[in-house]
Amino acid sequence: MRIGVLALQGAFIEHEKSLRSLGCETVQVRKREQLENIDGLIIPGGESTTIGKLMNDFDIADPIKALAEQGMPVFGTCAGLIVLARDIVNSTQPRLGLMNITARRNAFGRQVDSFETDLQIEGLGPEPFRAVFIRAPYIEEVGDGVEVLATVDGKIVFAREKNFMAAAFHPELTDDTRVHRLFINFCKTFHNLR
Ligand code: GLN
Repeated sequence: MRIGVLALQGAFIEHEKSLRSLGCETVQVRKREQLENIDGLIIPGGESTTIGKLMNDFDIADPIKALAEQGMPVFGTCAGLIVLARDIVNSTQPRLGLMNITARRNAFGRQVDSFETDLQIEGLGPEPFRAVFIRAPYIEEVGDGVEVLATVDGKIVFAREKNFMAAAFHPELTDDTRVHRLFINFCKTFHNLR
């Protein structure tokens, strides 16, 4: 498997480390040519307004959208979730808007800027996943076809729709690679369909 990691800003190196530890080849994506021959794309955490703006400046938003519409799997984490959302509460910032979800930025409030919690994730088995949240969004609303994979206090923090996955937390910041493995398996499924 060759997985691209959008490398305009944010925690892309950590994602590459997790993917490589699972035997994947990784590609840092900054130009449209680097989207060729990848089996999936991760949009990392960072600052969603910056990532959205740089995607337009680097002329890479439209090629990503075109490939995503042809079935390329895309996984957005934290800021990446926001970039994938069709609607963002109180924001007109640039986005890919590929998923039928409404994201709320910095949604857990100032008092709990960053926190860790044990998540039960659909499809990962009974063992909880220790999830790191940093100024995290959550998914306020999901549309048709969106499957909820995990919640924190009733707030949706992990979801999937067609060839897209979005997590409000940072799976690349812990040693547990099960979420990355889930995405790789997801990429394999879509690879076989193409
Ligand atoms: N708060 C950031 C945003 O709105 C996301 C934070 C993160 O990716 N850790 O873009």
